[in-house]
Amino acid sequence: MTPIKTFVPKNHPRYFSLVIREKLVEGFKNGLVAHEGLIAHGRGESFDYLLGEKTTEPALKSIDAASALFMLADRPVLSVNGNTAALCAKEICELNYLLKKSAVEVNLFYRTKKREELIANELRKCGLKKILGVGTGNLREIPELESNRRKVDPEGILIADLVFVPLEDGDRTIALKKMNKKVITVDLNPLSRTSVTADVSIVDNIVRVVPQLIKCIEYHGKNSTKKELQGIVSSYNNDEVLREGLDIMRSSKMLTASEHK
Ligand code: ATP
Ligand code: MG
Repeated sequence: MTPIKTFVPKNHPRYFSLVIREKLVEGFKNGLVAHEGLIAHGRGESFDYLLGEKTTEPALKSIDAASALFMLADRPVLSVNGNTAALCAKEICELNYLLKKSAVEVNLFYRTKKREELIANELRKCGLKKILGVGTGNLREIPELESNRRKVDPEGILIADLVFVPLEDGDRTIALKKMNKKVITVDLNPLSRTSVTADVSIVDNIVRVVPQLIKCIEYHGKNSTKKELQGIVSSYNNDEVLREGLDIMRSSKMLTASEHK
């Protein structure tokens, strides 16, 4: 995670969680994050609390499968919304750089020209030159979707074979699947419509996922053949991984007062 100026003492038990909140509030003040984005974060962070704010074994399996899918794809697109831009714009740009064949597209539920531009600027600050989905002029609409997220770039999501949609709404995930695209999501809620619909659902916090994805893709780039990557994808079972994630949350330990101190 990109460091920010924080008032949270480093030894605070919820240090990372509070720093993430500060980043989102900063993103909100800068116009990147919508009011609703702050609330959506609250839903996510409650699940993260149950996970112990750690990347779990099932999440690592999903990250491995996602890395293999990314490497096998011809036209992967990384979809970026306000929360994703506020939390990990730099890491998304690094991932895009590593993948080479990919593109980054701004796609917003609460789309305004201003937020679109602010998010594009945030990505530009991280060195990204080509940003899709900006400027409503040439955008197309994906079928059966009412929200603003139906607007997609004809050079990006419209023709992508794989779409990375972190922190996504269920309607659009379902619409993308109906268009026969492979979908990878990052969603702390293993019960969301997005999680159950995507091909690979990484039940973990996006701030931990993207750096781990980068490491995993670098590893496979050096060590794995195409056949091995195909093997990882075909042996992956998303439903099973979601169940395992939920089991971890269910068995989340209740701490005693003295352990909390
Ligand atoms: P769905 O529409 O898929 O049924 P939803 O309506 O509950 O889900 P949305 O607001 O559409 O949720 O999408 C946001 C999702 O992102 C939520 O499931 C939330 O748990 C998750 N989320 C929020 N912040 C993070 C984060 N930092 N990392 C990972 N997931 C997050
Ligand atoms: Mg939703």
